[in-house]
Formats: sequence, C-alpha cells, structure tokens
Amino acid sequence: MTKKAALVTGASSGIGAACTARLARAGWRVFAGVRRPGDAPPGTEEILLDVTDEGQVRAAADRIEELHGLVNNAGIALSIPLEFIPLGELRRQFEVNVIGQVAVTQAFLPHLRRSRGRIVFIGSIAGQSALPFLGPYAASKHALEAVADTLRLELRPFGVDVSLVQPGTIKTPIWTKSAAVAAELANGAGAELAGLYGDRIAAFRKVALKRGAKGASAEEVARVVETALTAERPRTRKLVGLDAKVRSGVERLPDRLRDRVYERVLLR
Ligand code: NDP
Repeated sequence: MTKKAALVTGASSGIGAACTARLARAGWRVFAGVRRPGDAPPGTEEILLDVTDEGQVRAAADRIEELHGLVNNAGIALSIPLEFIPLGELRRQFEVNVIGQVAVTQAFLPHLRRSRGRIVFIGSIAGQSALPFLGPYAASKHALEAVADTLRLELRPFGVDVSLVQPGTIKTPIWTKSAAVAAELANGAGAELAGLYGDRIAAFRKVALKRGAKGASAEEVARVVETALTAERPRTRKLVGLDAKVRSGVERLPDRLRDRVYERVLLR
C-alpha cells in the first residue's frame, strides 16, 4: 500500500518539527515546509516554502503530486501595544499567519479534493482570547478561526475535513523570537512607549515568562494533529493544554469581569 502524504508548513522547529517527526513515525510520507535549505527534520522530504512567497507556494504544489493531509502551522507572534505597532509589521503578522495559510490551502485544494484529504490549522487560544500587548497575534489567530469555519462548510461537499487546533502556551522558540522582535520594535518606538505602557508591559512579560516555562510540549500538539488527520470523525476544534482551557472559560465571563481578571492576573 502506498503511504499517505502530509505537508507541514513551518517545520523547522517547535510544533511543526514535532508534527513531522510524529507523522513520519506513524508511517506517513512527510513533506517538511522550511524557509532555509537543510532545516527539514530527519526522515522528511524538504520543501522550500515561505508561505508569503507565491512562487514558492506554486512550486511546492507542482512538486507534490499526491497529498492527504495539510498542516498549516507556520506562524509568528508580534507583541507590542497596538498604538505602536508599525503598520508594515501588522501587515506582516497577517501575511504570515492568515494570508499565507490561505495561499497554501488554495494551492493544495486540488490535491486534497482528489484524495478527500484533511486540513489542520494550528490556531491558538489567542484566537478566542485576546490578551493585551499581543493584539497583532491575537487578531491574526481570530481571523484564522473565521478561515477554518468558512472552509469547513465550503469544503464539505468535497469530503475535505477541516480542523483547528488551539494550543495554549507551548514550550517552543516562538516566544524568545517574539521577545527579540518586541524589544526591537519597542526601541524603534522610543521613550513614549516606555512612558505610557512600560510598567504594565513589564508586569505582563513577567507573568508570560513564568507561564511559558510551564507550557505543554510540542509533542502534545503533534498528537492532537495526528488524531485530526486520522480519526474517523475529526474534531472541528481542540484546545491543547490546561491554560488554554482556563482562558477559554474566562472568555465566557461578562466582558468587564473578564477584563478585571486579566487586569489582576497579568498587569500588576
Ligand atoms: P516556532 O517559532 O518554533 O515555529 C514557527 C515556524 O514557522 C518555524 O518553522 C518558522 O520558520 C516558520 N515560519 C515563520 N515565518 C514563516 C513564513 N513566512 N513562511 C513559512 N514558515 C514560516 O513556533 P511554534 O512551533 O510555537 O509555532 C507554530 C505554530 O503554533 C504557530 O502558528 C503558532 O502561532 C502556533 N502556536 C504556538 C503556541 C506556543 O505557545 N508556542 C501556542 C499557540 C499556537 P523559521 O525557522 O524559518 O523562522
């Protein structure tokens, strides 16, 4: 029997790398989408794929003949008060986390229709729960929720299932990368940002760092992704990690009460 094939975007590290390793172990033929040659994890076939590069997206779709599973995982997290995010950076946040996901999905839909395959989006609890100073990221993940909901209904007639995985904090390099970019952006914004938001950002970062160290493993997300690709009736959405479940609960509170909770827990 020929192996089923899956493509994972953003496979160089973190959740993407864990997904490729898990799927390869489970007997899938795995295409690893990476931005730098040599970054694909062992046991996978490397595909150069910056999701914002239309030429690379097209070339990937031409190269891969058969596909049963698409894992839209690539992502970045920009963290800065919305007042100060340079608009070009806000566009980049959406370009990678939303438009890039749609671009790759469009390119591979002919393959997935032929195989009656599956699409898994790596969303985030930030798609339900927008925290201060993570506005750009949360907005992009909220948009991804809409993309997944829309596609699920649009693709139903073709037998292509769509799932959205919503991890809470996962221990991966994304948060150190994000902190480095945030520091750069904050430097660019100068003393005004520090004067207006400095104390609250410092309190938020302290909590985020503490929580980050307790994050779940990327392997836990990979397990949920594998289930979404193989279960007879895949879940439409799945929270991963205790903090994701807690935050989902907080979002059910009335807005002002919810704000007071976050004010107390995150900003003091
Ligand atoms: P990592 O930073 O470890 O991985 C992100 C991956 O995305 C890397 O492979 C990176 O490649 C790739 N990437 C970035 N920009 C692009 C681009 N333009 N085109 C293609 N690939 C790109 O972070 P995670 O593993 O944590 O993140 C994976 C996904 O999980 C993201 O969508 C993130 O939002 C989501 N997530 C993560 C959570 C967490 O706490 N870690 C929680 C909830 C969701 P490169 O190495 O070249 O930069």
